[in-house]
Amino acid sequence: MSKSLSGKLIFSYIFIASLSVLLISIMSNMFLVRLFNNYIMDEHQRKSKDVVHAVNEQYNNDGSWNISIIERIGIDALENGLILKITDASGEFLWDAEQHNHGRCEALIAHFSKNMMSRYPDWQGGFVKETYTMEYKGSFIGNVEIGYYGPFYYTDHDLIFLETLNKIFITVGGISLLLSIIAGIIMAQGLSKPIEKVIKSAEAVTKGNYKNRITEKSSTTEIINLIHSVNKMADYLEKQELLRKRLTADVAHELRTPLATLQSHMEAMIDGVWDPTADRLKSCHEEIMRINRMVGDLEKLAQYENDNLNITKSRFDLAELVQSILLNFEADYMNKGIEIVFKRKDVWINADRDKLSQVIINLLSNALKYTPEKGKVEIEIKKEGKTALLYVKDNGVGISKEDLPHIFERFYRVDKSRSRITGGAGIGLTISKAIVEAHGGCIGVESTIGEGTAFTVALPD
Ligand code: ADP
Repeated sequence: MSKSLSGKLIFSYIFIASLSVLLISIMSNMFLVRLFNNYIMDEHQRKSKDVVHAVNEQYNNDGSWNISIIERIGIDALENGLILKITDASGEFLWDAEQHNHGRCEALIAHFSKNMMSRYPDWQGGFVKETYTMEYKGSFIGNVEIGYYGPFYYTDHDLIFLETLNKIFITVGGISLLLSIIAGIIMAQGLSKPIEKVIKSAEAVTKGNYKNRITEKSSTTEIINLIHSVNKMADYLEKQELLRKRLTADVAHELRTPLATLQSHMEAMIDGVWDPTADRLKSCHEEIMRINRMVGDLEKLAQYENDNLNITKSRFDLAELVQSILLNFEADYMNKGIEIVFKRKDVWINADRDKLSQVIINLLSNALKYTPEKGKVEIEIKKEGKTALLYVKDNGVGISKEDLPHIFERFYRVDKSRSRITGGAGIGLTISKAIVEAHGGCIGVESTIGEGTAFTVALPD
């Protein structure tokens, strides 16, 4: 079962906050309470010594026992939880808290026992006695026996202190939990809001709304990357959709003319208006061949125009490749009396040999097609920095300024009637451009009408 991002975030915040509060409580109980108990025991020791000192001082000051002062010390000590028994050197009682107020002494011990049990239900404590001896000028003058609830006890103030400490922990814990829920909600909203937008946009894209883009801003790197990726995907799909629509329109447009010609010729022959002479049938056959060629070209175009054109690179000498292709063209060029000048220079490149051959073939066949008899075609290969350059220059018909920006567009032919003769469908340069760009290179053209055309292919090493 899947859980929402906000639910997960809030849960993890609460979990961490609860764990922290729990850990702090355990630590404080272990260390803080232990320290507090040590402090209480030290205090008891200090109080006991103070009492013994006070009794001893009374004798030191007066040189004999003063019962009323001793009694006051004893009553004060009782108020502080100490049950005194003071005897002189002969063992005679000077003051005995239990004799003075037996009920009070018992109530005191019972009260401290209750205090300790309220904090530690299994507490094992009881009445404990400690005896201190007193001296005056080196001679023994008596004993002070201090009875109390041991090993130590909490007064009401101590209990209030410990309870306050607990309340503080509970309050801090509660506030932390509340803050963690608020922080979790804020964080979750900051994260889930843009993600929800991305989901909505992606859904819109899946429904064919390719123009949809996410404009949501985020400060989270992963979300920025996600938005970027989805927008890029939408860009790609929009481009593909556009290409698809254009291709359908172009194909329909390109096929209409030869099909219409064929249809009218056939109808004329069927209706008996035209005799099916060999010439007429040959003309129909040529139209069919044209359609056939176009379908073949379209197949190639579909393959090469794909953005994910697969390039299988290998290292080879560009000059050697051009030389081998030129061999196949030699006869055609010779038949037209076109001179070929090849300025050969070995330039090694990393490229897809087969696909690059297609580019060279397109450029050489165009140069052949659009250069009149006795013309000249110059081919040059050189290297500039890390870029390999291939020039194919002819002194043929040239291309007008108006047509020049469009010649790489699919099905664009400068002179449609002449293309009919040359057999071009206007996609050779489109394919060449796609191949060169898939290599990370670029293809350019310069031309002057009536003077000639020069194509430049630049390929990175
Ligand atoms: P095609 O198959 O018609 O030759 P291309 O895509 O190769 O298609 O070329 C597109 C158009 O560019 C051609 O129809 C032609 O008009 C023009 N063109 C290409 N190369 C040359 C050239 N060397 N000289 C003159 N025109 C050219």
